[in-house]
Amino acid sequence: MIQDVSEFRGRTAVVTGGAGFVGSHLVDRLLADGLKVVALDNFVTGKAGNLSHLEGNPGFRFIEQDVSEPYAIEGKVDLVFHMASPASPIDYVGIPIETLKAGSYASHHALDLAKEHGATFLLASTSEVYGDPEVHPQPESYWGNVNPIGVRSCYDEAKRYAEAVTMAYRRVHKLDTKIVRIFNTYGPRMRLDDGRVVPAFIGQALRGEPMTIFGDGSQTRSFCYVSDLVDGIWRLARSNFHEPVNCGNSNEMSIRAFAEAIARISGVELTVEDRPLPPDDPKVRQPDISRAREVLEWEPRVAFDDGIRRTIDYFKGELAPA
Ligand code: NAD
Ligand code: UDP
Repeated sequence: MIQDVSEFRGRTAVVTGGAGFVGSHLVDRLLADGLKVVALDNFVTGKAGNLSHLEGNPGFRFIEQDVSEPYAIEGKVDLVFHMASPASPIDYVGIPIETLKAGSYASHHALDLAKEHGATFLLASTSEVYGDPEVHPQPESYWGNVNPIGVRSCYDEAKRYAEAVTMAYRRVHKLDTKIVRIFNTYGPRMRLDDGRVVPAFIGQALRGEPMTIFGDGSQTRSFCYVSDLVDGIWRLARSNFHEPVNCGNSNEMSIRAFAEAIARISGVELTVEDRPLPPDDPKVRQPDISRAREVLEWEPRVAFDDGIRRTIDYFKGELAPA
């Protein structure tokens, strides 16, 4: 069962990582649905510009805060969305210790905040908990294939820990918890230089540079537009479901096919620069979204070409001279 949005009007949500790509879209959605929002961020991978349009909004408050350190929030809190964590492989491989803290210390602090207020807690987890999967597509029942000491482990194991501590707070403290396992999501407000494949290839297409394909480009990903993801997250928060739920788009393609699609939609000829495949890069990834369909009555709606066009338009604005 999904509670109606009207039951949440006037309530307060805390969003850690609120200045990030997904976090800022979630903040917008919650405000649009009549909630008050407190966003916390230290800008380690996010940007103030993602929230600048909310300046002067009486329902919105921003606190610059490293959420891996202790903090307190004044006033009643009804929902805590723990979104803070570096998410791009290039970002998190560069700051592995901060990433481990975002999954561990910061999860404890966000869970304690929810506990203190009797609030609902939602964890932004990831398809990376499945590692380099041996089951395809990935259902939530799959326990994963993660290298615990590889370069990606700072992210994968931090998120696996975050899921474990979320379930422990649920079992011990009877907290109302939710876990969303997010698969590759894209859209406006990603950083052009965050290294993820969507901003990388679109930026390269717009600048007339070759696309940097890592490995032979046969590895696959499935791309979800951000408004669809945020809708899934918000539905999960309003549900009474406590097991992890995959949210993503089943539209799987190889990275080479993705490069071809970006070239086609951008109207440029594809040129490629071959780069080595980073270690432990998952070979395949596609969410099994049967659970989300059933318990959230949710599925992605934005067609790939439409989402990519909107994202290209956003990046054109970012690249335009000021
Ligand atoms: P992002 O890097 O744009 O956003 C993360 C935000 O968290 C940034 O604003 C960053 O500054 C902030 N942050 C990180 N550590 C912090 C700390 N210690 N204190 C305060 N703020 C901190 O990435 P995103 O794509 O928006 O990801 C948001 C969440 O969704 C992350 O938890 C990520 O793991 C998860 N996720 C995203 C995807 C995706 O495809 N976008 C896929 C799987 C999971
Ligand atoms: N990738 C690529 N070129 C780039 C950036 C990424 O070929 O410039 C590949 C990367 O190796 C991976 C896929 O694209 O196989 C998706 O990478 P991303 O960093 O977006 O996220 P991931 O799904 O690996 O977390």
